[in-house]
Amino acid sequence: MFKPGHEITAALLELFLPASCLACGQPPVQDQAVMLCQSCLDQLSPIKGPLCSCCGRQFPKAGGGNHLCGLCLSDHYPFTLARALLRYTPPTTIIISAFKYHGQTAGLKTFRTLHQQMVDFPLFTDPDLIIPVPLHRRRLRERGFNQALLLARALYPGHGSRIDFTVLERQRYTEPQTNLSGKARRENLKKAFRVRDDKFVAGRRVLLIDDVFTTGTTVSECAAVLKKAGAEEVTVLTLARVD
Ligand SMILES: [Zn+2]
Ligand SMILES: [Zn+2]
Repeated sequence: MFKPGHEITAALLELFLPASCLACGQPPVQDQAVMLCQSCLDQLSPIKGPLCSCCGRQFPKAGGGNHLCGLCLSDHYPFTLARALLRYTPPTTIIISAFKYHGQTAGLKTFRTLHQQMVDFPLFTDPDLIIPVPLHRRRLRERGFNQALLLARALYPGHGSRIDFTVLERQRYTEPQTNLSGKARRENLKKAFRVRDDKFVAGRRVLLIDDVFTTGTTVSECAAVLKKAGAEEVTVLTLARVD
């Protein structure tokens, strides 16, 4: 999915430039797998309980067990379970934006390490299909890569045959969700996704991958379409989640 030129440039840069922290440029810790300095590493905010046992939202008050949030009590989301690795706060915001908008893929190795250290959700380890949230063709051309696909490959090495980036399609070009409210986000994404052929998802347990869970509108739209096509279950894993 990468423009070859871009990949080569990135590889050359990695060779000739001394490694630096992905978020602030300081020298990283002496651990090849995590390209962050100690200060940024300390500021990463993994999502910890208590959280919503369905959508994974972290509750503001520490203590107590996981339980359902108000939205999930009213069956708000079409997916079964959603979890994220990190809260969407600095330096995570900076690392994701460098990855998504500037093709800074050096972060993928770091995400994989964090994922291996942090995730032990049995449901996520054995899906039938791993589907990255698709980009529209036009956005893919503009960006040169789909960050969700790179993320899926980085987080699930060795599961390449289960990663399917063609079955779910983005058929409508939509405005970026960033500046839209919840209702406008849902309107914006209406009929944005479709399943290429129901037979590929019918009866399958699907894990959807995306970079950030903001209001959950995008993954909800995808999950609804996949369920309609007969998916047995849809779970969601994102790199980060807005509180
Ligand atoms: Zn740093
Ligand atoms: Zn919830």
